[in-house]
Amino acid sequence: MSNQGDRPQTAGPDDGPQPPFPLKLDGKVIKGFGRGSSELGIPTANIPISGLSVGGHEDVDSGVYYGWAGLSPSKATHQRPPHAQSDKYSHLSSGLQETLSGIAKDDAELEKGAVYPMCMSIGWNPFYKNTVRSVEVHIMHHFETDFYGSHMNLSILGFIRKELDYVSKEKLIEDIKTDIEVSGRSLAREPYAKLRRDPYLLEFEGKGEVAS
Ligand code: ADP
Ligand code: MG
Repeated sequence: MSNQGDRPQTAGPDDGPQPPFPLKLDGKVIKGFGRGSSELGIPTANIPISGLSVGGHEDVDSGVYYGWAGLSPSKATHQRPPHAQSDKYSHLSSGLQETLSGIAKDDAELEKGAVYPMCMSIGWNPFYKNTVRSVEVHIMHHFETDFYGSHMNLSILGFIRKELDYVSKEKLIEDIKTDIEVSGRSLAREPYAKLRRDPYLLEFEGKGEVAS
């Protein structure tokens, strides 16, 4: 099985995302089952999507992806803007945390919202007999407050891995931590880092509840 040592350090080509990436998907953050924080210590913001389609594509594999997440302005984004580093975020090595928060240094846009590095999973929702997919986004940042009800615009830039079998909780957490580190290193590459400035990420007007 994989671990930090035998998994690739980055995912996707160094010179930038290849089609179908960037894959764009947006929706409102809804309540899930509280599994992320309570069971794993890694919160995931759940976005409802309708049917099979992910960002207009029906052939997107289930698995783990990375990219940038734009969040509509809220108490959470104001208290903890993207450039605010924190010792409380322990899933990313400190050098990488510094690099990523440096990419994000842009106070001017805070009234429009905020863009953060993210790692996400696309899976099947067992509550709908696996006919509906679900998207769960972990933002690689420490927040003081929840942001349920916020709108989230996702620019998905690469694929990390397929879903692995759940061997044990400890193994799962270890794999997710590796995913987070791989996501961070992948996003720190200039062709990926510059896509943080895609205006789409901060466009929230007239967007609905369910992902488009
Ligand atoms: P739920 O099952 O309701 O999704 P989680 O335990 O997965 O509950 O926690 C997710 C919620 O926690 C998000 O909807 C968001 O409001 C909040 N949250 C706080 N920090 C983060 C983070 N770094 N990434 C994602 N969500 C976070
Ligand atoms: Mg969740």
